Amino acid sequence: MQFKSTRGKVAGKGFVDTLLMGLADDGGLMVPERIPAVTDQTLASWRGLDYISLFLEIFALYVGDDIPREDLRAMAERSYGRFRDPQVTPLVRVKDGLHVLELFHGPTFAFKDVALQFMGELYSYVAQRQGEIIHILGATSGDTGAAAIEGVRGKEGIRICILHPHQKVSRVQELQMTTVDDANVLNLSVKGNFDDCQRVIKELFADLDFKSGHHLRAINSINFLRILAQTVYYFYAYLRLDEQARAGKVDFSVPSGNFGNIFSGYLAKRMGLPVHKLIIATNENNILEQFVKTGVYRSGDFRSTHSPSMDIQVASNFERYLYYLTGEDAVKTAAYMQTFHKDGEIVIEGEELAQVQRDFAALGVGNARCLETIADFKTQHDYLLDPHSACGVAAAEACGGTGETVITFATAHPAKFDEAIKLCEIEQEIPEPIQELFAKSQHQVVVDYDKAFIVRQLEAFYNGVNLVGGTEAHE
Ligand SMILES: *Cc1c(COP(=O)(O)O)cnc(C)c1O
Repeated sequence: MQFKSTRGKVAGKGFVDTLLMGLADDGGLMVPERIPAVTDQTLASWRGLDYISLFLEIFALYVGDDIPREDLRAMAERSYGRFRDPQVTPLVRVKDGLHVLELFHGPTFAFKDVALQFMGELYSYVAQRQGEIIHILGATSGDTGAAAIEGVRGKEGIRICILHPHQKVSRVQELQMTTVDDANVLNLSVKGNFDDCQRVIKELFADLDFKSGHHLRAINSINFLRILAQTVYYFYAYLRLDEQARAGKVDFSVPSGNFGNIFSGYLAKRMGLPVHKLIIATNENNILEQFVKTGVYRSGDFRSTHSPSMDIQVASNFERYLYYLTGEDAVKTAAYMQTFHKDGEIVIEGEELAQVQRDFAALGVGNARCLETIADFKTQHDYLLDPHSACGVAAAEACGGTGETVITFATAHPAKFDEAIKLCEIEQEIPEPIQELFAKSQHQVVVDYDKAFIVRQLEAFYNGVNLVGGTEAHE
């Protein structure tokens, strides 16, 4: 399998090169040259596979000869062996027509672990096999950073620097990132919001000399590896449904921010998974809801909500969907993105908008409704949702049709967001690995939103020099 860019100027790249490239050199996003088809017969033959075996079947369609299957298996076993549930992503039936797919059983208690545990293994493998220097650079609204750091801490040949918005991530998210004391980890806490952090990262990756000179590698959900790793649990969840549920219409409701997770669902559908509707659940940062309802994709004012990992106004993976919406027209995709860059909005109309509305339903869930959903779900089903997952449930209830089966994603463990749970007047038991974080010391550098200064911090870190300037915070 080879990969190409959504903007048409990069093509013929193998799986490992695609992993290393991250953002395509022409500014686009990497996609497969051709989406492999999974026939009904193949799908039926996958029934009963355990998570890792299913993972290997799906990856085999994309990896080609780049990595021997036994190496892939060893990496997958190490990655998913760290999950607290043997099923990796167990499917829980809550009531007729509603299932919760729990994606939070990894080391950092959020769904990002599913892709980033494996990505850490793969980067380490490539570093050893090809002698590559791997300098991971990423921005996080909280969960990506924690999961990425956990995936590569202490691994040889890899350094990782993560930017997060200062005091705009949850307490547990901050502790998960900053209590790591391995020398190959640098946390920059940026006085700004997530979009500011992401903007700096995007600019640095767009500077090809800087990118190659410093061996920069991405972990953001723009990396196709993450998209692919996430398609596995769409298949897994579907295959776990009983026959009756599978026979009807199956929707997925996905708490969304950067459009990564939901795009994995779109890819699964294009591969042949019989998905009826993909429901985009957002919070008050509802750019995606507006897009699905009106065809206008425009970032609005940034809102801080109970679900900070979805506090995002520019969805990095959106371009991948545009590419398929235009019928894989790279010229048109590039033009749309240029318009967005210039005017701050894209308008989709006519048949294209009709297609958007066939592919997706969407709901932006307000803060009050989010908390109500947590409280109601606890009362009715004795099941505690975190605020992100609650947005998914609220959207599932609003958008799922009668007789349809909705699989709604629990993207984080509620203990990660106890601030919101307390607002619902619910006391929860905090799992031990999270409790232990509060006793550890923190390592992070608080910096202004100043690109030049951030670059100097990075260069010092990549050159193995001790950090200067900023405020080293060890509170
Ligand atoms: C990252 C994250 C999301 C959003 O996922 P995207 O792939 O960015 O759409 C939702 N919920 C939680 C808990 C997350 O960490």
